[in-house]
Amino acid sequence: MDVLKSDFITQGPKIPEFEEKIAKYCGAKYAVAFNSGTSALHASYFSLGLSSNDEMITSPITFVATSNAALYLDSKVNFVDVDSKTGNIDISKVEAEITDNTKLIVPVHYGGNPVDLKELSEIAIKYDVKIIEDAAHALGAEYNNKKIGSLEYSEMAMFSFHPVKHITTGEGGVIVTNNEEYFEKLKLFRSHGVTKENLKNSAGGDWYYEMQYLGYNYRINDIQASLGLSQLDKLDGFVKNRRKIANIYNEIFKDNPYFDTIKEDENSKSSYHLYPILLKNQYESKKREIFNKLRSEGLGVQVHYIPVYLQPYYEDLGYKKGLCPSSETFYKKEISIPMYPTLSDVDIEFVKEKLFKVLSNIQ
Ligand SMILES: *Cc1c(COP(=O)(O)O)cnc(C)c1O
Repeated sequence: MDVLKSDFITQGPKIPEFEEKIAKYCGAKYAVAFNSGTSALHASYFSLGLSSNDEMITSPITFVATSNAALYLDSKVNFVDVDSKTGNIDISKVEAEITDNTKLIVPVHYGGNPVDLKELSEIAIKYDVKIIEDAAHALGAEYNNKKIGSLEYSEMAMFSFHPVKHITTGEGGVIVTNNEEYFEKLKLFRSHGVTKENLKNSAGGDWYYEMQYLGYNYRINDIQASLGLSQLDKLDGFVKNRRKIANIYNEIFKDNPYFDTIKEDENSKSSYHLYPILLKNQYESKKREIFNKLRSEGLGVQVHYIPVYLQPYYEDLGYKKGLCPSSETFYKKEISIPMYPTLSDVDIEFVKEKLFKVLSNIQ
């Protein structure tokens, strides 16, 4: 209400306040908020200088935005297969995919479960390639006792504030970075590439501004930022509840005959954006039937994700089925079951009962 009654609806004081709070939460120096996670990714790749002669590496078990943002800059996308146990990029397969043109690796913390950033960064350093984390699922997750976004092993990290993510601003996203040069470029890119500082030509008057890059209107507004501020206060509680629910699920599903679940590394803490189950081999071919039956039993199950390069647009670019076999198998096995902070004990019991009822009746 204060924002709505204020002089600013957009580009007001709530935006830097929100950015500072996010940066502090993650343990990063700077944050720049955007009108979506996708525009934030686009800006981060731009700030790194990704362009048409460059290649970027990511994994196909992600939302299309991760690689689309590289296509916006005419960069080539090189998909590296996932680890079939976690859905995260298979680090042992990264090195072979690096070429002289590789500039960027974008690991996706699938479901909120952190990629082994230290191991990945050793390869990145060896080949002078930069890392930007797609941390859309991982706000509040921890790696080596530090929050994702603390940037020990990467240049930047992106979080999304779409309503399905951990906190929301309606639509929105942010990039955190410790690098001042990226920080300045991110801000310019967000707003048409226009600035009143560090001018290239002489100012000639107080009205003067300069467009120095081909930027976009990717701004978040003050109304969204104030929602983000109140959401941030609740974040730790949200993550705590998700982890509590995941622990109960882990216990209930231990050693069941139908599916596997994803285990955390001992040095990391997932923020459990998702709780994926991975059907055992003999149920793979029945996924469609299982999914439909779960839906008709009242479970809001989802699938994350169709391997990006199997999308028609990517197929038209020349990507072929079979490119990343583990990702394709992961897709055949994966179903995301209900996971959100207000899921009650009664709800969990309902999920368990329906899941085992459906699976035990599959021939
Ligand atoms: C949600 C999401 C995005 C894009 O974020 P938006 O805010 O929806 O634009 C990018 N990558 C992943 C992995 C996501 O889940």
